[in-house]
Amino acid sequence: MKLLLHACCGPCLLEPYDALAAEHEVRVVYANPNIHPRAEYERRRDTLLAYAAENGVVVDELDYDTDAWEAAVAGLDRESGERCRACFRVRLGAAARHATELGYDAVATTLAVSPYQDPDSIREVGEDVCAEVGVAFVVTDFRDRYREATRRSRELGMYRQNYCGCRYSETEAIEAREARRKR
Ligand code: SF4
Repeated sequence: MKLLLHACCGPCLLEPYDALAAEHEVRVVYANPNIHPRAEYERRRDTLLAYAAENGVVVDELDYDTDAWEAAVAGLDRESGERCRACFRVRLGAAARHATELGYDAVATTLAVSPYQDPDSIREVGEDVCAEVGVAFVVTDFRDRYREATRRSRELGMYRQNYCGCRYSETEAIEAREARRKR
């Protein structure tokens, strides 16, 4: 099967790519207009591209359309899960459309390796956006590989971010660290 793997960053690519490439023809797409600021977006992208270049991984970069992302999440909150669902929809929707343009059969995402993301939301949104354009969504759960992904990315000296990606999550991560420090 020809599978397009949406990748959020280099460290999260490692384990899902190896697992999926063992069974499928895998190409990677970097579709992450959620990441703020642009310098952070480029740093994560360049980390991914450096690993890809060294390991023969093909990567497509899609538009960094931050206006569309902001419009999609406007007024939505994190607590209900709606903001992150809308964020997944923008990114996985772009990946699904790109898969159809390439003539690929299916889409998966490296978001499935993170214990900080809601797997049910990823699955529901992924299945939905893929059904809209007629490709399959490969449901994966790589959370049991997160420790290994962390170990490998450290060993490789990869840049590892300390917040999810959007401007809201940057502030939330700072506040959470501050709260932990006070405790
Ligand atoms: S916290 Fe992460 S998943 Fe949620 S909206 Fe921000 S970047 Fe997207």
